[in-house]
Amino acid sequence: MPVMTSIIEKLNDYLVEKPKPLIGAETIQFLLLREILDYTVLRTEETRELNSVNTPLSESDRATVVKRVAFLGSKQKAAESRQMEYLLRSAAAAAGKSTPSGKNGDGCYLKDNLCLQCPRCGLYGGTALGEGANIKHRIEYSSAFSLLPFDQISEEITFNAVDELSQTTGQALGSRNVVKPASLFPSIVTLKAVTREELILVMKTLLASKSYGAESRTGGDCRNTLVGIVAGWEEIITPLELTLELYDKKDNLNPADLKSFLEEKYKALAGNPDRLMVLSPSDADALVRECAETPLDRNFLDKAYNDIAEYRKAQGD
Ligand SMILES: [Zn+2]
Repeated sequence: MPVMTSIIEKLNDYLVEKPKPLIGAETIQFLLLREILDYTVLRTEETRELNSVNTPLSESDRATVVKRVAFLGSKQKAAESRQMEYLLRSAAAAAGKSTPSGKNGDGCYLKDNLCLQCPRCGLYGGTALGEGANIKHRIEYSSAFSLLPFDQISEEITFNAVDELSQTTGQALGSRNVVKPASLFPSIVTLKAVTREELILVMKTLLASKSYGAESRTGGDCRNTLVGIVAGWEEIITPLELTLELYDKKDNLNPADLKSFLEEKYKALAGNPDRLMVLSPSDADALVRECAETPLDRNFLDKAYNDIAEYRKAQGD
């Protein structure tokens, strides 16, 4: 009988058996391309402007400055924390598992009814209302920067009101800048001292998340594709560095290039180069498949929820 091999086991040195309040340095970074698939407003406040920032053009041309659109880390995190909540809710219902609730009952939900007992709260963290201990997050997001400059991926859209009877167009209601479909944002999600189950939950969440953007009624469609996995005792690369590296290679993007610049340049910059490991492109693909194909069954959920219950016990709750 063939032995089933787990690709996730290749990351064992960077995973923990149980989540704990006091963590070590084990770090896994998922390198992603987030592809916007509809006209999307990426902005924080009431301005009509997209979030944008001046950056160097690329790693090989740091002297030229261009404006890029920023996809804020807080926006990525909010959408993905919700997506994990939905996954856990449906998986628990399908497995017939009862799950903890926040103070208002009715399960665990953002933003004022976190249970602080479930895998989502254990990973994304949460603040206890009252006397309980807080949970510190072990998943980290940073702002992502568009692969291409602002003027190549944005467009101003004008809104008109149409009179339904006469079918005439009235005065323009206004205009706003949007990101065009097929725009790419290199992005990184960093995991600190997580378990195998938490790694699987995050990967499933990234694959399942399709909706971002502040104005959630329209736009915000997005697909996340994993392009690399790097592990170490520290964060190896930041999203801006990833954008600048990939810009240089954008006309001929090859996953093997990613592995080579991480192992050469970024290894040389690391504080613990002997601990750095980059998965090969085929191992990274296999790991994505393994995570996607792992069922969120009763055994999986029992382990994931019990881990957080023990974590809370260790905090002396
Ligand atoms: Zn919770």
